[in-house]
Amino acid sequence: MRMRNQYRVLASAFCVLLAWWAPRAHGSPGSPPPAHPFRVLTTIAPLYSFVKSIAGEAVELSNLLPQNAEPHDYVLSPGDARRIARADLVIQNGLGLEFFLEKALAKVDREKLFDASAGIPPLPQWRPPGSSAGGSLGGAVPPNPHVWLDPLFAAVQVENIVRELCRRDAEHARDYRVRGKRLVEELHRIDDRYRRALDPLPDKKMVSDHDAFAYLAARYGIRVVAILETRGHAGLSPKLMAWVIDSIARERVRALFSEVHHVSAELRSLSRDTGVPILLLDSMESGALRADLYERVADSNRQSLVEGFQGRTSAQP
Ligand SMILES: [Zn+2]
Repeated sequence: MRMRNQYRVLASAFCVLLAWWAPRAHGSPGSPPPAHPFRVLTTIAPLYSFVKSIAGEAVELSNLLPQNAEPHDYVLSPGDARRIARADLVIQNGLGLEFFLEKALAKVDREKLFDASAGIPPLPQWRPPGSSAGGSLGGAVPPNPHVWLDPLFAAVQVENIVRELCRRDAEHARDYRVRGKRLVEELHRIDDRYRRALDPLPDKKMVSDHDAFAYLAARYGIRVVAILETRGHAGLSPKLMAWVIDSIARERVRALFSEVHHVSAELRSLSRDTGVPILLLDSMESGALRADLYERVADSNRQSLVEGFQGRTSAQP
């Protein structure tokens, strides 16, 4: 008797669950509902934060890179390949950032790969003056992929993602559009805060060890004087270091900017040699998987930039 009662309780709980789940299933009208919720896999944390804000609990969302992993030298694991195979939609940044997906994607998987940066005009990676690969998008060097750090290009990515989610999961289209519009408005408010903070500052020059802020710099009138990035390059020659030290003195650069997750030995050495302090920025690409990541990091990045351009700090991280 007790067993039968337990069975009834379980059966009614199952019906409640089914009733809750059924209207949430995606698919075109008339087609049988799929056996699982719409599964979206993003590649990096900022894209995860956009989809989380747009889709809420309507999709089963996960991110390929774990927190603190670095996309520029990421290697896919067999577990990652299984997650890609399991996903209904894989949203990548594009512009060459996810080179690790290129070889791993089977032909069938390419159909579920979506490029969030479509329509954004790419910028080249920074190269020192006179470099043979310098400043061109025509060669073998891929463009700078960090478009999301410009809030207005982030808004373009959000609009792209909303369109794609609506196309693939029509049942939730209205929710996606409403939430996406709200997020785009938030990104415009972030842009407004950047403008009000940075426009009055006359002398905005950047030296960094991560070429992640080119789009943000272009948006807010920041001149990128030099990037000391060793990854993928032949290393920093004494000639280049001498040129950077000379440029910092000549252009009166007031701050060096580094990635919050890793300050390079080269930038520390440069700071010691020049007496110019290091401030921290966050490219978000190794950030926490949460809906409000973008807003929180954009605020702290803005404060770092203002402090650096005003020369208000001498703190060393
Ligand atoms: Zn990066």
